[in-house]
Amino acid sequence: MSDKGSEYTKPLPVLEGMTGEFYGFCKEGELRFQRCNDCAAWRHMPRDMCAECGSLSWEWARSSGCGKVFTWTVMAVPLHPTFMDSLPHASVVVEMDEGVRVLSEVVDCAPEELAFDMPVEVIFDAVTDEVTLPKFRRSSA
Ligand SMILES: [Zn+2]
Repeated sequence: MSDKGSEYTKPLPVLEGMTGEFYGFCKEGELRFQRCNDCAAWRHMPRDMCAECGSLSWEWARSSGCGKVFTWTVMAVPLHPTFMDSLPHASVVVEMDEGVRVLSEVVDCAPEELAFDMPVEVIFDAVTDEVTLPKFRRSSA
């Protein structure tokens, strides 16, 4: 399910600031999220302050990489022209074991096979030389 070998044309994240750090870990094969150093709450998307306790002290903590399908939506009509050849495409929100939610896709699952709470695990798809996207596949966990 990789687009390697052909030029990747879909939108890509801008690798700057905390977003750049997040994808830098992905490129190393690690899924990491911010975790508060004061109250241990995980958070995503990246931001400076803990929403639970207001602390500005945090670290990039490694995720188990395991989660469950929280919800999804199926694109039948392309909302961006580069998705024309990938329809129907399911954009899936995965709730990680740590509690944070990630918008991604489940690469080995057709949209009609998705189910709430389906266990999934992260994989890493190096779509360009610079960008590796975290995606998911079914797991038996
Ligand atoms: Zn906190």
